[in-house]
Amino acid sequence: MSKLIDNFGRQMEYVRLAVTDRCNLRCQYCMPAHGINIVPKQELLTFKEMYRLIRVLTELGVNKVRLTGGEPFVRKDFVGFLEMLSYNDLLDAINITTNGALISNHIAKIEQLKKVKNINLSIDSLNREKFAKITRRDVYPEVYKTFELLEKSSLNLKLNVVVQSGFNTDEIVDFVRLTKDKNVAVRFIEEMPFNGKGQREMQENWTFAKILNEVKTEFSVDEIQSEKSSTSRNYKVENHLGTFGIIPAFTRTICNDCNRIRITSTGTFKNCLFDDGVFNLRDFIRNGASNNDLKELFLSLVKQKPENGFIAEANRKDGGASESMSTIGG
Ligand code: SAM
Ligand code: SF4
Repeated sequence: MSKLIDNFGRQMEYVRLAVTDRCNLRCQYCMPAHGINIVPKQELLTFKEMYRLIRVLTELGVNKVRLTGGEPFVRKDFVGFLEMLSYNDLLDAINITTNGALISNHIAKIEQLKKVKNINLSIDSLNREKFAKITRRDVYPEVYKTFELLEKSSLNLKLNVVVQSGFNTDEIVDFVRLTKDKNVAVRFIEEMPFNGKGQREMQENWTFAKILNEVKTEFSVDEIQSEKSSTSRNYKVENHLGTFGIIPAFTRTICNDCNRIRITSTGTFKNCLFDDGVFNLRDFIRNGASNNDLKELFLSLVKQKPENGFIAEANRKDGGASESMSTIGG
């Protein structure tokens, strides 16, 4: 079987698929208060088209998919799509990133889908008012309810916390404290300029090193072994049930072992979060491409994968990264 190997010897095994560009929240680091210009529905990939693209990718060695958005659960019958994807025998894991505001009723059903293994729940504050300020919606009680249900469920739970200067940096140690009794992996994410406008004004630059130092003001931590392709470096506080990790999303020290490709909700293929999209898969399949055509295309597209996110950003035709994460699929 041909594999998706790039010019730096990295093999692509993980695809991140944005199932929609729509979202019920308006997180300030992701989009402007009035939202983004969403595309007409017919420009979004259909679930059948997504299924087909994933199937072809799995025939080229991809074995994991992360479904993201926008908010995946905003898309009608997303749970039906999860079930449909579960029939792909070449997929080992289906992971989901969600804001958790719409999913508490679906958890029992999702638990039955054995390939759905990991849920990343985005929760940037443990304080209702702050949470509302960050997301511009007052949905903290529902998101916290989802958190508690997921924690009790059979799914592996990670909490995504975007570290935002001037908003939630005073809660970094609170999130680590949460791992004492809860079996959860907290992951702090460096803020990136994907908010529909570009780099926000920041009082301080909360890099990987600064976040780790902040944790160390309160806890003594041990680094734990992570998978080679992990996006985070991970740590544990002695006697804590859970763990925490830090994702150097902006300082980009993880690119060497990248095994990921992306497909946006409109079917744009991306080799890197920071590139500006390399191919429109939607039009390619709507114009009648066969699965073999798709395979050949994917094999050639990954050869264009840039060595790292800095090179990807420098190669953009439209200047620096500034589009909303909701359109790319974070
Ligand atoms: N709506 C879902 C959610 O919020 O989890 C899935 C899509 S969201 C774009 C995926 C992840 O990207 C979330 O954890 C979110 O916090 C993160 N994200 C969005 N914009 C970001 C930015 N500018 N910098 C860093 N992370 C960002
Ligand atoms: Fe929506 Fe997720 Fe972006 Fe927040 S981070 S606005 S929940 S897509």
